[in-house]
Amino acid sequence: MYDLLLKGGRIYDGSGMPSFNSDVAIADGKIVEIGRLNGSAKRILNVDGLAVAPGFIDPHTHLDAQLFWDPLGTSSCFHGVTSVVIGNCGLSLAPAKPEDREAVIKSFVRVEAISRRVLEEGVKWKWTSTEEYLSALGTRLGINVAALIGHIAVRHYVMGEDAVEREATPEEIAQMQRLVRQGMEAGAVGFSTNQNPRHVREDKKPVASRLASKEELGALLDVLGEMNAGVVQLSGGGADSRGRISYAADLARRTGRPVLWQSISHSWSRPDHWQEMLANTERVFKDEGLPIYAMTQAKPFQNRYTLRDAQCFDEFPTWKTALYVPVEVRKQMFADPEVRKKLRAEAIEDRSPSVFPKRWDVIFIDQVKLAKNKSQEKKSIQDIAQAQGKDGLDCFLDISLEEDLETRFVHTNTQGDPSAVCEILKHPSVVIGQSDAGAHMSYDARFGYSTAFLGRWVRDYGIMDLEEAVSKLTFRVASIFGLGDRGLLRPGLAADLVVFDPATINTLEPEYVQDLPGNETRMIQRAAGVLHTVVNGEVVIENGAATGAHPGQVLRPKSWNG
Ligand SMILES: [Zn+2]
Repeated sequence: MYDLLLKGGRIYDGSGMPSFNSDVAIADGKIVEIGRLNGSAKRILNVDGLAVAPGFIDPHTHLDAQLFWDPLGTSSCFHGVTSVVIGNCGLSLAPAKPEDREAVIKSFVRVEAISRRVLEEGVKWKWTSTEEYLSALGTRLGINVAALIGHIAVRHYVMGEDAVEREATPEEIAQMQRLVRQGMEAGAVGFSTNQNPRHVREDKKPVASRLASKEELGALLDVLGEMNAGVVQLSGGGADSRGRISYAADLARRTGRPVLWQSISHSWSRPDHWQEMLANTERVFKDEGLPIYAMTQAKPFQNRYTLRDAQCFDEFPTWKTALYVPVEVRKQMFADPEVRKKLRAEAIEDRSPSVFPKRWDVIFIDQVKLAKNKSQEKKSIQDIAQAQGKDGLDCFLDISLEEDLETRFVHTNTQGDPSAVCEILKHPSVVIGQSDAGAHMSYDARFGYSTAFLGRWVRDYGIMDLEEAVSKLTFRVASIFGLGDRGLLRPGLAADLVVFDPATINTLEPEYVQDLPGNETRMIQRAAGVLHTVVNGEVVIENGAATGAHPGQVLRPKSWNG
């Protein structure tokens, strides 16, 4: 007797091979048979005409805290995601002694824009080591989770607050190496670090990993090399993208481990730059056979912000100063024509590369506060400025000042140009899925990278066949992270599956809900065309609703765990 029998679906098995019609039988959390099956089952799902695929594996999330109060990792599970990787960008909640927790929170709050109140109310710290953290997490999970060890936590554990002040001594580096080894032995899937010059803590200090010397990072990654285990995940590093690619290549050469670097995407401030990045990544992969992968995202990165709370100007000194002073002082600065000259020079006139788009035609008003401004919603600043006969910056600041800095703006800094996005998504050295699920919850939601990819890009733009697309979201990610029993539909492997309708699958517009610890608001995102998400043989999401099952596990790769 099977536990679950999926009848009549079309199997996209994750390998990229041609799809075929077949039934799938599941028992004890595993796939037991694929073929024309007539055995009895506790539950039969008729999936006639639908696609059956391995559950999607989201390689880049920040659900480290959220999974404690939301074990399904909403909204990822709505989009067919059955496993997530946490601990990205150098940020993890372990290892951490009680006295390091504050440093870890300070880093998460600013870099990933997760509210302090949410973290303080939502996380009940019961661990010191990575092992204890993983077992706390594993007590109640709706989806599966694989964890990277974050450099920031490791550094604070050994150096305390000195971690944001100086380089480590050889003795401290040796202690950090022991922590990385312990974390890997406890089942982590790799190590993440962060050298992104924009990443600061709540108190404006650089995140701890940014103070690491080359020797330190190399020594910590040598642990992975010695264990022949784990991936390396990089945020930043190298002076520019060319430097970042050779930095990733150096680390892959040194350790022999897969390196994921961030990221290749189209950017309005340098519209042709993605081509050079693709070519350079490909060269390293092909010429030297080094497994370096660029991350990319299928959803444009949308930034929603008011001038009460915005991080997208942090790279511009005058803006940064303005956004850190009290609101009344900030308003005086924004009103001052002399200050405006500087603001304009930094954010618009200076043509050096930037995450800020530096053009007013791609910056929109998302929501106004005053009824009289209602007609300006969804218009670009450029259009409004033209109608008012004003300069873009004056228009932008005037409306915000008029509304007590509560006007909400939205802009897409990356992946705004479809023809570029198609080429990036198709490339074999590119890993799809910078969902950043669990981060910046108040202004963006990219949980739906998988449904956006399959709906918008694979179906509507026809950039590749569905077999190949499913493989990119499943088998390839599982292979990079060493998750040998996931990412394929094969008898004997874990029964993580998604059932979807290729004709309708898509991501829906984000919505606001007020369901966070401390009653705070966040954005969620639902999917169209995803009928069932199955984790370890149990249906967790059925037609967009949670079933109440919690079959998720912490994934500890057997290959390096003995
Ligand atoms: Zn990240």
